[in-house]
Order: sequence, then structure tokens, then C-alpha cells
Amino acid sequence: MSKIKVLDEQLANQIAAGEVVERPSSVVKELVENAVDAGSTTIDVTIEEGGLSLIRVTDNGGGIEASDMQTAFQRHATSKISTSSDLFRIASLGFRGEALPSIAAVSRLTCVSADSNGGLARRLVIEGGHITADEPANAPQGTDMSVRDLFYNTPARLKYMKSIQTELGHISDYINRLALAHPGIAFTLKHNGSTLLRTMGTGDRLQVIAAVYGTSAAKAMLAFTDSDSDYELTGYTSKPELTRANRNGITVVVNGRYIRSHAVNQALLQAYHTLLPINRFPLTILELGMHPGLLDVNVHPSKMEVRFSKEAELRVLIERAVKATLTAQRYIPGASTGG
Ligand code: ADP
Ligand code: MG
Repeated sequence: MSKIKVLDEQLANQIAAGEVVERPSSVVKELVENAVDAGSTTIDVTIEEGGLSLIRVTDNGGGIEASDMQTAFQRHATSKISTSSDLFRIASLGFRGEALPSIAAVSRLTCVSADSNGGLARRLVIEGGHITADEPANAPQGTDMSVRDLFYNTPARLKYMKSIQTELGHISDYINRLALAHPGIAFTLKHNGSTLLRTMGTGDRLQVIAAVYGTSAAKAMLAFTDSDSDYELTGYTSKPELTRANRNGITVVVNGRYIRSHAVNQALLQAYHTLLPINRFPLTILELGMHPGLLDVNVHPSKMEVRFSKEAELRVLIERAVKATLTAQRYIPGASTGG
């Protein structure tokens, strides 16, 4: 008898969960990204006990068709890409078709969703990867995902979780950044009944900056904008008087996705040059738009890392844009003002 066999789907999902679902904030990230991809204009996130007892994300987006409900929870099932060429022009936040089956494999999940066919909502319950209910439900258009008892069936992972405050910190940080990335979406974040963030969804990014960092920070921000043939750049960055002790105040958004990029950070800091005290960093929200073909987001399962195909040009653009703003505000002596 052959010794090698293909793993059953449940086991494969649990293994994938090890990569995709590192901690409660990874679940929040995947569910909220799905809500953004669904075209939602309001996204409510409710957390209990740092996400270990409950993570609930409710959106008013396009919803999941009743006949697609179970498929959405299958491995590699996605509505976002279908051919390999799609992989090189990704316009959505998700595309791997891994999040839902992975999350459902390591929690007790309830999904209620209704698409625009009104009244045809469906309620699906999955516990540790096994479907325990699939029935008609009554719900408005949108999707309501509740994830309870995360890692209840993977004790090793559960043991590795940090304090409620630490897990909540990661969740809150992520929601703050996504709200900054999407000022047109009204977000709320609640933990154990208290509201930690509420944004209005008006599209005004300064309003979101005020909600996340406070009104005095919002008042110390300078707008910048520039573009070249490949990139559209906009954002806000703090006057050199307002600095922070680390780079965590820098949020980089690429085609709607919050990412981390050493190259972008370097270009930004280069623009300030000697204006910042040593080991101090600006508060910045920097948004880049580009043709998805210029970007590789398929670097890591978390999709937090990307590769730019024209990184050198991008650095030049960012440095130029931020320097122009600092010059206009007379922080950098400009040639035209005789500096
Ligand atoms: P991916 O986002 O990579 O496609 P997921 O496992 O996160 O994979 O989701 C699978 C599919 O389920 C999505 O492609 C989408 O069609 C559907 N889906 C998930 N969440 C939502 C949501 N909040 N609203 C509408 N559709 C959703
Ligand atoms: Mg997804």
C-alpha cells in the first residue's frame, strides 16, 4: 500500500491556518478586507476579550449569494481572480481564497449573508471546519461574520497568545490604518462594549486622522500630492515639530491596501533630511495608486509585503513630493525664495 496520500481538506485547512491566522488581528484583517472588497460603506467590528472570545465583522456590502455560501468556505475558492494573468493585476485586497476556510478550521464561525436578492439570506455555522448548520435566515443585504473561541481546537496556538491588551493593540492598530486607507468607509471598533474608533465615511482623510491620532495631530499635518507616468501619490505628513519615537506613525497604502515598505519609509525620511531630530519620525499617511501590473502583492500570505517593479522611480517621486510641501511651508529653504 502506498505511504503517501493527499491530506483531507480539514487537515489542509488547519495547516494553512497556521500561516494565515497567526493571531486574532489576522482574523480581523481578513474579515475586514473581505468587507472592503465587497464594496461596503459601513464596517462594524466588535471584539470581546482581545478577539479570543469573539470577533464580529458586519458589513453592508454586496453579500454572498445563498448558493455560494458553502463554496466561499472551501479552500482556494474565490470570486476575485480566475486566471493566472489576473494574479498579475490584482485590484482587490483578497485573492488567495484561503482566509475563510482557514479561520473556520480553528474557530466556531457563524456567517449570515444576503446579497441584493433581498430576503434570501443564509446562515452557515462551521465548528472546527465542520458544517453544523446551513439554513435560510432573515438579514439585510451584507455580511455578518462571527468568529468565536478562536484556536479552541489548536491548544498550542492558543497558549502562544499574548495578553488581551496586546492582542487588542494589534487589532486596533490594523483598524486604524484601514480607516486611514479608506476614508470613504465608516468604521467602528468596539471592545468589550466600549467604542475605540468611529469614523464617518465622508471621504475626508483629515477627519480620520483626527479620529485616530487626535485633533491636534490633524492640525499639524501638511498635505502633499504628486504623480509621474506610473504613480499617483497623495497624503498627509506632519510638520517637523510633530514627531514620534518610532516609525509606527507611518501608514503606507497601495491601491487601497495597507502595506509595510522599507523603500517608501526611506524615501519619506530622506525628504525630511535633517529637519527631524535623530531617532524621531513623522506621522504620515501616504497613499499610492498605480496600475496593479506594476505591483506584486503575492509575496507572503499576509499580503503585507509587496514588490514594486519601478522602485527607484517611486522613491524619487515620494522624496520630491514631500520635499515640495516642506519647501512650500518654508521648512526647507526654496530656490525661488532665495533661501
Ligand atoms: P478571498 O478574499 O481571497 O477571495 P476568502 O476566503 O477571504 O478569499 O473569501 C472567499 C470568498 O467569499 C470571496 O472571494 C468572496 O466572494 C466571498 N466573501 C467573503 N467575505 C465576504 C463579504 N464580507 N462580503 C461578500 N463576499 C464575501
Ligand atoms: Mg479574503
